[in-house]
Amino acid sequence: MSRIGFIGVGNMGGPMARNLLKAQEQVHAFDVSPAALKPLGEAGARIAATALDAVKDADIVVTMLPAGTHVRSVYLEDTSILTAARKDALLIDCSTIDIDSARAVHAAAQKAGFDFLDAPVSGGVGGAEAGTLAFMCGGSEKAFARAKPVLEKMGKRIVHAGGPGAGQAAKICNNMLLAISMIGTCEAFVLGEKLGLEPQKLFDIMSAASGQCWSLTTYCPVPGPVPTAPSNRGYQGGFATNLMLKDLKLSQAASQGAGAATPLGAEAAQLYALFAAQGEGGTDFSGIIKMLRGE
Ligand code: NAD
Repeated sequence: MSRIGFIGVGNMGGPMARNLLKAQEQVHAFDVSPAALKPLGEAGARIAATALDAVKDADIVVTMLPAGTHVRSVYLEDTSILTAARKDALLIDCSTIDIDSARAVHAAAQKAGFDFLDAPVSGGVGGAEAGTLAFMCGGSEKAFARAKPVLEKMGKRIVHAGGPGAGQAAKICNNMLLAISMIGTCEAFVLGEKLGLEPQKLFDIMSAASGQCWSLTTYCPVPGPVPTAPSNRGYQGGFATNLMLKDLKLSQAASQGAGAATPLGAEAAQLYALFAAQGEGGTDFSGIIKMLRGE
């Protein structure tokens, strides 16, 4: 049994920490929100009064926080994880954050003598609850080898993407592609509708032809062909537009920093910003078909 300090137990961190408890790990949880901590205490976690209290005797520290500023603050400030954790503790940040912050925390952790891994996830709240998340990891071989057994208690696919920041880089490349492919899939259905095609017929044709992609066959943005897709429940649940927009903004900041041309990624970011501005930030990202239809 390991002792795991878990910081940030919101929509994702909460179920992830519960899966660690189910796997008989000892969890010391901290969150600035008492409401987020309460269900975890009921599930058997020890509730820590501060982040430092959660990490001070931990073998492993996991953070699952909203953005780079939060991650920098819990790792890099004067009284932070790097000052409070045991030197042999393994540190894993599962938040989706900008690559610069991830690399800054990597450098500080390495300087302080820690093994650190950036390990953002895909799979959403459903995957966090089911313990089927995919983890994309950046850091040393040693840190990855140490982290794999604990990540397997929260996920199904644990991939070593490369060195510091590589997990974040893989995550934003994937989500930029997902946004572009979703918008393309929506446009094909909207054009098909205007041309008088039945959505189911168009689905049957495209899903067996060269237009086939995950946005079509697993997450179809029109109701009917894929019963589990959010389109069948009014685009509720699933992956919120605001979260997709966050990842697209990270991808565009990274493209600018790296000098990569990503014009379709930029266009996708604009379209999702417009959709969010219409009050659809909480709507599943496949709901952008409504805007493309002019609804
Ligand atoms: P969330 O807002 O539900 O949870 C974040 C938690 O962090 C909150 O409970 C908040 O109170 C806590 N927190 C903030 N600052 C803190 C601090 N300084 N110390 C301790 N706790 C603090 O967000 P979420 O949906 O759980 O997402 C977490 C991360 O996972 C984000 O980076 C997000 O982009 C990423 N992600 C989310 C999803 C999803 O579907 N929700 C999918 C993949 C990745």
